Amino acid sequence: MNYIVLVKQVPDIKNIPNEAWDWEKGTLKRGLLDNVCNELDKQALTFALRMKEKHNGQTVSLTMGPPFAEEVLRYSLSIGADVGVLLTDRKLGGADTAATAYPLAQAIRKIEKEIFNGDKNYVIVSGMQSVDGDTAQVPPQIAEGLGIVHIAYATSFSFDNGNLRVERITRRGTETVTPENYPCMVTVTEWTQPLNASFSRTRWAYSQKLYQWSAADINADESHIGLTGSRTAVVRIFSPKEAIQRNCVFESDLGKLVRMLKESYTSKLEPAEEEEETPKYHLPEGKKSDYKGDIWIYAEQEGGEINPASFELLGKAIELASPLDEKVGAVLVGKDIKGLSKELIAYGADKVYIAEHELLENFLPVPYTKAASELIEKYKPQMMLFSATPLGRELAPRVAYRTSSGLTADCTGLDIVDFKRGDREFTGVLRQTRPALGGNIMASIITQNSTVQMSTARPGVMQALKPDNGRTGEVFEYAPRITESDLGARIVSAELHQLTSELKDAAVIVAGGSGCKTREGFDKCIPSLAESLGRFLGQEAMVGASRLAVESGFIDRSHQVGQTGQTVKPRVYVAAGISGAVQHLTGMQNSDIILAINKDPNARIFKVADFGIVGNLEEIVPELIKALNSQGA
Ligand SMILES: Cc1cc2nc3c(=O)[nH]c(=O)nc-3n(C[C@H](O)[C@H](O)[C@H](O)COP(=O)(O)OP(=O)(O)OC[C@H]3O[C@@H](n4cnc5c(N)ncnc54)[C@H](O)[C@@H]3O)c2cc1C
Repeated sequence: MNYIVLVKQVPDIKNIPNEAWDWEKGTLKRGLLDNVCNELDKQALTFALRMKEKHNGQTVSLTMGPPFAEEVLRYSLSIGADVGVLLTDRKLGGADTAATAYPLAQAIRKIEKEIFNGDKNYVIVSGMQSVDGDTAQVPPQIAEGLGIVHIAYATSFSFDNGNLRVERITRRGTETVTPENYPCMVTVTEWTQPLNASFSRTRWAYSQKLYQWSAADINADESHIGLTGSRTAVVRIFSPKEAIQRNCVFESDLGKLVRMLKESYTSKLEPAEEEEETPKYHLPEGKKSDYKGDIWIYAEQEGGEINPASFELLGKAIELASPLDEKVGAVLVGKDIKGLSKELIAYGADKVYIAEHELLENFLPVPYTKAASELIEKYKPQMMLFSATPLGRELAPRVAYRTSSGLTADCTGLDIVDFKRGDREFTGVLRQTRPALGGNIMASIITQNSTVQMSTARPGVMQALKPDNGRTGEVFEYAPRITESDLGARIVSAELHQLTSELKDAAVIVAGGSGCKTREGFDKCIPSLAESLGRFLGQEAMVGASRLAVESGFIDRSHQVGQTGQTVKPRVYVAAGISGAVQHLTGMQNSDIILAINKDPNARIFKVADFGIVGNLEEIVPELIKALNSQGA
């Protein structure tokens, strides 16, 4: 078995020098940041090298970038890769994810032919996403370009009689998946400590000749690369301060902190001052929008249950459809799912498109992409929104690539605009706003030269409407052309957990993380703090947890908050011993008031908190309970 590892040189966003901030514009001067190897790609490299220990073969490290990106290849060789390939050409610059995936897929074909001598028995491994783009779109789009399966969110692997088995994270738990054919693509999440380089191996790495290929060497069609091949364009960059306005107040006097918390809680209960209404969009007199067709959402269902994030998408789709005078459609893919159309209509869908098939019982990226893309080709919507859930982030990139559509990941804002760029005018197009560079900047993006404008939207940000069971809509049934050979992979086993809905509706949540250290530590601090805080605020409080706390066995999965847990929006959220990983923040950052307790003053959770206590939670929590009990009395 051979291995190709995709590595990327990225700006070091963990160490941003002061002079790199443009304080006036609120943006970052990217050129002033150091360049490092993307952390998850280091993990991918380690993952591949560990596989190679079990099944010997060649490991090729592949990167696309400017000539100085060869540094990440030298690093790869020093860790254990055998060959380095640098894809470099000015023509490849300025590419979005599709225009990055296409030349990388071409380079992989050339590696197969010229380095592996036509042997198809190889695995492509990459980090799930890079810290600069944070889109997680390139690996699935490469897989779509190559027509192969990808297994995302991989956490470990094993070989069973020579067959690769990959364990991966899903929203509902974990599953073990085995590819049916090779090559296949595996994308890795946090996995293990990256390997270290020895001095002699590093010397060897710097003495090696690297392959250096241009766009012509990989036979690239110039209409698919660089700026010309990009289907999305960044039209504005601005400071996240305009979007998220939280300034953490650190307070070590817990009596004072409790009073401030109460004041803030009470003031948020009072009716907010009339907010200035953003003017509603109207198409300019006599003009038509650039794109035509309905506004679609992908209704994510697993096990016959619709993810509530899909109802939020419907709420947004109605808002976007109204000024364009278009209808709202929802796409459902799966087995035995017809019954779900009523619910989608109640939440605002005018039309429901159902792609049902025996082989679509469980989510697998290749057949689901085929089914959704066939519907798009048949009915031609102008927009399609997916939720930025693990499933949505696996499916949307492939559907976008297959249908020649631009896709923007993890949007927190979507609206319709007209604008001018150079001598090109855009009318009635979708503006997609999202955080970038680890949340350090915000970017607004539009789709160009595309069949459909596509976005994934962060769950918990858009508003679902109240369901109206009296609503009526049209249902279209479609039989997708799927065969066994389309599956690409098989789910060997799955460990599912039940999601409860109670946390989602809680007014007060106290959540504990791995900082609680043990189950006893969690039990001692978190439920008692929840009880006291609930009593103090006159609300019932519930217990939440980070994924690591759940995986460490502190509490069961139904309490997990975050991307693969529940999205919550309580009036007060307390995060105790939680670092603030983006997957956790996704599930709770829209809470009205956030209080964080952490011993690390630089923990990311403080960036989204209103109140912060720095210290050891074993000491702080009993003191805080005392302060709550005495002030509430
Ligand atoms: C696909 C995918 C989906 C995921 N989904 C989720 C999800 O839904 N929800 C989720 O939470 N995570 C999710 N994760 C995992 C996420 O990336 C983080 O690993 C996880 O959130 C970390 O949990 P934590 O903050 O409890 O632990 P850590 O990151 O280990 O942080 C522990 C924190 O506790 C602090 N601490 C330690 N000791 C003390 C003490 N004595 N007193 C005070 N503070 C202390 C530390 O300073 C640190 O900040 C997902 C990851 C992936 C790849």
